[in-house]
Order: sequence, then structure tokens, then C-alpha cells
Amino acid sequence: MSLISVGTMAFDAIETPFGKTDRIVGGSATYVAYAASNFVKPVQQISIIGNDFDQSILDDLTRRGVQLDGVERVPNQPSFFWSGRYHMDMNTRDTLVTDLNVLANFNPQVPASYQGAEFLMLGNLMPKLQKQVIDQLTQRPKLIVMDTMNFWMDIAMDDLLVNLRMIDVLLVNDSEARQLTNEFSLVKAARKILDMGPRFLIIKKGEHGALLFHENHVFYAPALPLEDVFDPTGAGDTFAGGFMGHIAKTRDISFDNMKTAIIVGSAMASFCVEKFGPARLQELSKAEIEERVQDFVDLVQFDIDLV
Ligand code: AMP
Repeated sequence: MSLISVGTMAFDAIETPFGKTDRIVGGSATYVAYAASNFVKPVQQISIIGNDFDQSILDDLTRRGVQLDGVERVPNQPSFFWSGRYHMDMNTRDTLVTDLNVLANFNPQVPASYQGAEFLMLGNLMPKLQKQVIDQLTQRPKLIVMDTMNFWMDIAMDDLLVNLRMIDVLLVNDSEARQLTNEFSLVKAARKILDMGPRFLIIKKGEHGALLFHENHVFYAPALPLEDVFDPTGAGDTFAGGFMGHIAKTRDISFDNMKTAIIVGSAMASFCVEKFGPARLQELSKAEIEERVQDFVDLVQFDIDLV
């Protein structure tokens, strides 16, 4: 079992109502790798970094079973840089800076050693580049999951629509689902998105959990009510990594198993927000993950007898 993860490896500067960071490691594929490697090895990473990226992070990922053969290193340019400021509700944020840097000339290549991977996680990235990876695979993976964001809907909607025909699961947040379909009702939006191609749709709703749609079925996973939410950056990617990690570990792509996978994804995301950047994911133990998944089970389990 192997999982290819494509996306950004970046530096982020984040402002939340509780603090501010200067330049810390982030990027969609970084979070996916940290989350997924708890469940599946190897995670085969495809990304691009500049001369400023931390070697200690690369070493840490390698120790966790993340293969970096597909990570291009550009010697004389900085890594992708993103900066954002969260509003008081921590669910909404403004992007302050998106410096593509090395990403502007990224031409992802799938190493020969990655061919045959059963699972593909297309993390948030230019839609054209996500497609370029699908096109290079000699064997279609069992499941292709794609994340995206409003930024790409604004500037590359046509490319995004092409990708939707090629993937199995789309991951978006509620405002992105609305932007994609011009529908306010998430049920109507879901129906329209499923008509655009993917067989499954996950709509993330931040602190209000996530919805999984498939045909006429819908499943809801709550988010764990947390006492402190410190920094939501990367929560969506961490969710994706946990979701995909569980699917790749079990190799079961049924709707029922996806329900479990979105609980696992939600559990992983709940850790991510507890500290700035990927710090909490870097120190996580297996026992803590199991305990957190159990917290979710306890949160929603109840007996009901109407007679
Ligand atoms: P999330 O909070 O899950 O949406 O992910 C935030 C991460 O996505 C940050 O670490 C950023 O480096 C990365 N990111 C921000 N904007 C983009 C973009 N336009 N394309 C790819 N990755 C991005």
C-alpha cells in the first residue's frame, strides 16, 4: 500500500487573535504527510522547495516514512510563501500574501519508483499541476482525492472543472462549495458538484465538522469541541491526510469506510489546531491518536428508544 501526496511545501506567516508567527514551515503537502504517515508508509511526496527549506523537517519526514524523491529542490530561489490573518471566529481568514517563488516554475515529475501507487492525494495546488500528475501515472490509482481552494477557483476555474472529471473524491470547505456552484444550500451544491464528476464529496465546515456526500447518502462528522483553538492553518490538509491515511491503510474505498475515515481526519485536524503550524503533529503519539478517535465516538454515540 502506498500513497502519493502532491502539494506545496512552504513557509507561512500566520496571525491569529492569540499570536503571530514569522516564517514557519507549512504547505498543503507538509500537513498531509505529517498526518498520513501515522497510518500508511510510504507516503510518496511530490512538491518543490527552495534553498531556504529546513533540512531538519525533511529529515523528520524521512524518519516518518515519507519519501522525498519527488520533491524538487531549487538552489537559488525561495520556497512558496503564504501569509494569512484569522478573524476572531477562527473560521475565516484573509490571505495577506501569496508568493509563488519556486512554485511559479513547478513542473511536477512522478518518479519511476512511485508508479503503481494505489492512492493519490492531490493537495491544494494549481489545478493544471494536479492534472499533470494524474496524466503521468501509468496505472490509475484505486482512489484519487483532490483538495482545492477559492484562490484557484478565482484564477483557474476551467482547469479545476477538467480535474473534477478525473477524480473520485473532492474536498472543499463550505464557502468553496458555494463558490463552485453558486448555490447557498449545501445539499443543492453537493448535488451539483457530484454531477461535475466526483463520486464522493466532502464539505469541511471548520469547527462545525464535515459532511460526506455520495449518491443520495449524506454522513455528518462533528468537530471536537476544543477548549483552545490556537491556529487553524493546515487543519484542512491534516484532515485530508488523516482521511487518506486511513483509506490507504485499510484499502477499503466503500462509503462505510469513508465514514470512519472522516472521523479519523477530524481527529487529526483537531490536533493540528492546538499549536502553531505542524508543531502538534510533530509530537503526536499513537496512543493520543487512538484516544482522540475514541473521544469522537463518545461524542456522537447515544442509544435512543422512542417507545
Ligand atoms: P489549510 O489551512 O488547510 O487551508 O492549509 C493552509 C496551508 O496551505 C498553508 O500551510 C499554506 O502554505 C498552503 N497554501 C496557502 N495558499 C495556497 C495555495 N494557493 N496553493 C497551495 N497551498 C497553499
